[in-house]
Amino acid sequence: MGLFGSTSARHDKTFEVEHSEEEWRRRLTREQYRVLREHGTERAGTSPLDREKRTGTFHCAACEAPLYSSEQKFDSGTGWPSFWRPLEGAVETSTDRSFFMVRTEVHCARCGGHLGHVFNDGPPPTGLRYCMNGVAMRFKPTED
Ligand SMILES: [Zn+2]
Repeated sequence: MGLFGSTSARHDKTFEVEHSEEEWRRRLTREQYRVLREHGTERAGTSPLDREKRTGTFHCAACEAPLYSSEQKFDSGTGWPSFWRPLEGAVETSTDRSFFMVRTEVHCARCGGHLGHVFNDGPPPTGLRYCMNGVAMRFKPTED
């Protein structure tokens, strides 16, 4: 440990659910691992969750934490499941400077798994567009 320690956050941060990268590899599919642990992006239009219209909750595919309600979902036309607000405290954000852009990265507050990005061109009431990778989530319909 150096005198000044490391300040750049993410990898030093601890989450409620933590596993070694080897363990995550075992728990997740290859595509889930690529998105959740390596900040990958699924191809637009490939996730069935983009077209999911039922009432229910979208959970983190890595740790099962509830992230979004179907009431917060809207059709952004981008080919990725999009939401105007997450469930309270469900996600956290960090600054992403990859690909020569400054974007706001969104990850699961419980396990740190990368979910997508948030943009300022969403609908009311928040004006936000949480652009999520469907492969990073699991949909659980409300039972009636
Ligand atoms: Zn999670």
